[in-house]
Amino acid sequence: MNFTDLYYYHKAGQQREAVRVLEQLTHNAVMESRFNDAGYYFWNLSMQCLEIAGKNEENSREMLQKFQEFQSKAEVYYVYHTIQRYTDEPFTSHQAETLFNMAKYLWHAILKEVPHGVSKVNTLYALAKQSRILQAYKLARFAFEKLQSLRIPPRLQDTVDLGSITIRSKPFHDAEEVLPMCYRCSTTNPLLNNQGNQCTNCSQPFVHSFSSFDVLPLVEFVLENGLSDEEAVQLIQMEPPKKRQRDQWREQSSGNMQSMRLDDFGDAGADLEEDPFTASLMSFEQGSTEFVPVVVNRSVLQSMDRSQVVVKKWPSPLRYQYYKSLLDDVNVTVCPSCNQTFHVEEYELLVLQNNHCPFCRRKSI
Ligand SMILES: [Zn+2]
Ligand SMILES: [Zn+2]
Repeated sequence: MNFTDLYYYHKAGQQREAVRVLEQLTHNAVMESRFNDAGYYFWNLSMQCLEIAGKNEENSREMLQKFQEFQSKAEVYYVYHTIQRYTDEPFTSHQAETLFNMAKYLWHAILKEVPHGVSKVNTLYALAKQSRILQAYKLARFAFEKLQSLRIPPRLQDTVDLGSITIRSKPFHDAEEVLPMCYRCSTTNPLLNNQGNQCTNCSQPFVHSFSSFDVLPLVEFVLENGLSDEEAVQLIQMEPPKKRQRDQWREQSSGNMQSMRLDDFGDAGADLEEDPFTASLMSFEQGSTEFVPVVVNRSVLQSMDRSQVVVKKWPSPLRYQYYKSLLDDVNVTVCPSCNQTFHVEEYELLVLQNNHCPFCRRKSI
């Protein structure tokens, strides 16, 4: 069974059958350790579920749950493919930083559930080695200690034993350069968070470039009740407002306004002070474990520079997802097919090299 057959099933309206076939392909890919393909098939499955959810209200909830589950698995296998290859064959074309980012991302993604075929040992092994290279010694210690409590394949045993001993001569802390900063609340985060890939202070999820796995300077926001996606996109496309309007806005909401982050952005500080979106970043409760998203209204949307907004245009029944970039000089793009985010330069290079998006394999036009 191949994708031509799948297309036939799809056309014939036998989508459930198409899903069944796709599940079989996915299963085979996992069993044969073709994790790249497993990721790709899971992504396809997730999109099938989303399509069914859009057509069939009865099953909508169940299908959306499956969509989420398969999206997560697609991401995990996509990343794990590189980690697995690195542990099999340590000569890699990836930079230490990319492997470090990927291993760290993966570790957080498998905290609650480890998908079939994904090895915690391989993940920790890559994490330990790359952390050490990047002087994230605290994280390297953690990874080596965890490894000692797991069953390690004989071919890695010596490296793990040696690494566990030599790491003891290193400092107890991680180099500051590798600590991620939260773009919502400006908190410098530790490298590990038991809650997952999110800020320890405000719980805002980190947004990664799906190539280098750098944290992108994006903060997700949601729309105020009563605002449709169509209207929101129109407002974002409009010219940014006159200064007078901004001042009015600030008067209304000065009670919530905090300015602790302004200095962190150097020259950009003066601009950010005027920016209503920046003010709404602080709309979370310090120390609360519950995540409170940034909510924006019409005037905030209108104040935005459209070049700094990233929109993931999901089909119904999902709503669009919106992100604001907080740095002027970092260009972010989103794949129109899978909605993964990338640094523009990385994405363009990858599409040039492979002729398709690295995650969903959408052909370049
Ligand atoms: Zn934060
Ligand atoms: Zn894509």
